Amino acid sequence: MSVITPCQMDPDLWFSTLKADQAQAVAGCQRCPLMDSCQQTAIDNKTQSGTWGGLTERQLRRRVAPKKPRKPSVPASCGTSSAYWGHVRNKESCDTCAAWRTATVHADRIRLLAEEHAKGGSRNGWQLHQRMGEQPCDLCRQAHNEFQAERRRNRNRNRTATAA
Ligand code: SF4
Ligand SMILES: [Zn+2]
Ligand SMILES: [Zn+2]
Repeated sequence: MSVITPCQMDPDLWFSTLKADQAQAVAGCQRCPLMDSCQQTAIDNKTQSGTWGGLTERQLRRRVAPKKPRKPSVPASCGTSSAYWGHVRNKESCDTCAAWRTATVHADRIRLLAEEHAKGGSRNGWQLHQRMGEQPCDLCRQAHNEFQAERRRNRNRNRTATAA
């Protein structure tokens, strides 16, 4: 005894590209006794059109499409800028790249500090010394103290102005 499947009764619906029709076809497949084997056959045959075994064309194509090989998460070798940022994007931790980053940041600070010293020391320089965990040099300390003194003077001036 052969079964009459829902799709045999309304083939157009099973080959429609309209979303509403496809939803109806999928619902029809749910009532079909052949659903599991039908779906497997469609996948095995890499079927690309029509609704089969409760899967729409789109769903079938996704099942059938060969999986793209995942790109290696770190394209460049560790200890470089692209490797470091690759890890950051992928939320990975890497000791080599972390050490590279620390060293780079440190080198940048040394370069910036040299620029501040060429200007005769500055408050920026004072902050850089602090970030590098070292005692500020006399020039930068002086610039920082002057900045603080200036800020105090301004504050007092504002206070007098408000009081008056
Ligand atoms: S499961 Fe296959 S045979 Fe059954 S209705 Fe859906 S498409 Fe037709
Ligand atoms: Zn790395
Ligand atoms: Zn300094």
